[in-house]
Amino acid sequence: MEKYKVGILGATGTVGQKFITLLENHPWFDVTVLAASSNSSGKKFKDAVNKKWAEEKTLPAKYENITVLDVEKDVEKIAGEVDFVFCALGCEKEKIKKIEEMYAKLECPVISNNSANRMSGDVPMIIPEINADHLDIIPHQMSRLGTKKGFIAVKSNCSIQCYVPAIHAAFENAVKDVLVCTYQAISGAGRTFKTWPEMVDNIIPYISGEEEKSEIEPLKIWGKIENGKINLNKNINITSQCVRVPVSNGHTAAVFVSFEKKISPSEFIKKLENFKVHEKSKDLPSSPKKFIHYFADEDRPQIKLDRNLEKGMGVSVGRVREDKQYDIKFICMSHNTVRGAAGGAILLAEMLCREGYIYK
Ligand code: NAP
Repeated sequence: MEKYKVGILGATGTVGQKFITLLENHPWFDVTVLAASSNSSGKKFKDAVNKKWAEEKTLPAKYENITVLDVEKDVEKIAGEVDFVFCALGCEKEKIKKIEEMYAKLECPVISNNSANRMSGDVPMIIPEINADHLDIIPHQMSRLGTKKGFIAVKSNCSIQCYVPAIHAAFENAVKDVLVCTYQAISGAGRTFKTWPEMVDNIIPYISGEEEKSEIEPLKIWGKIENGKINLNKNINITSQCVRVPVSNGHTAAVFVSFEKKISPSEFIKKLENFKVHEKSKDLPSSPKKFIHYFADEDRPQIKLDRNLEKGMGVSVGRVREDKQYDIKFICMSHNTVRGAAGGAILLAEMLCREGYIYK
């Protein structure tokens, strides 16, 4: 099969680098364009990324000498050369929104990690195993943009990637109230312990904008398409606190949930173990064999033991117990730059290709 030609916008950043390592030997996708800001454009990728390379794996040789293009100035060239782009830019929201629309309007589909377009009513925000049906909104978006092939699809914030799937297991019990506290890794801020030494032996009780995203994005994932837009599920009430912790990779969440139809811990565990992923998410190159892993051990999930489950695409859940104020409580965890960022976006792109939304 001839591979899809793929560009990465923001290739020099933390998420961009994760795309590069995950896509090195991808069976369907061939990364042919690397783009970043004007600070990096014109340089060979190895020189542009240089000391910023944060992946454990060394930079694959085939990317070293690719000349980095400018995300904005070279937009027509990039859109003309690739079948779609992954967007992992780290700049102001309005600028990203403009850049993503620019590519879509040039008939180049954009699969984005950014929050800029997440709450746009006709932009699907997808966790493939859960709300693949929201792909149906894409024709509405294309008619707004006036495109035949170009559109934007996004993945949700990394903070919600473990607790939304876990809660979704019992969705038919009608979720009512959710309280969640997240403990988020420093790579979520595009940083390492080298570049953020203040985080060693420290906790910072504030992540800009994260609590708002953690509370509203699940309502879109659980929302419904009505009159050409995705309406939020207003029956669910979520409150959150998000904290930065001294962990390199992996976001953990402590979650409390009440349902309209009360559920016991043992019933919830059964639902986790029997979780049925959406048909459209099955058997793709990046699909995990098992999406949710439930641990009965009292001391799991643990970052070091469990973040790389299913090559970083799994979600782990443990400590499911009855709660005095809510129905149940539990702890969950997922890899923030794989499932929560590049890996989740790659799985979404695979689904969009197989469903015929992205084509050569
Ligand atoms: P990052 O490490 O700061 O990388 C930012 C990238 O954007 C770099 O390639 C940079 O290029 C480029 N860039 C910055 N300003 C630009 C501009 N004005 N014009 C064009 N390109 C520009 O950020 P990151 O952690 O990879 O995150 C990228 C995005 O993904 C963010 O929106 C973040 O919120 C989101 N996200 C991150 C995670 C995570 O776990 N890290 C998870 C989910 C979502 P230069 O190197 O040339 O400056």
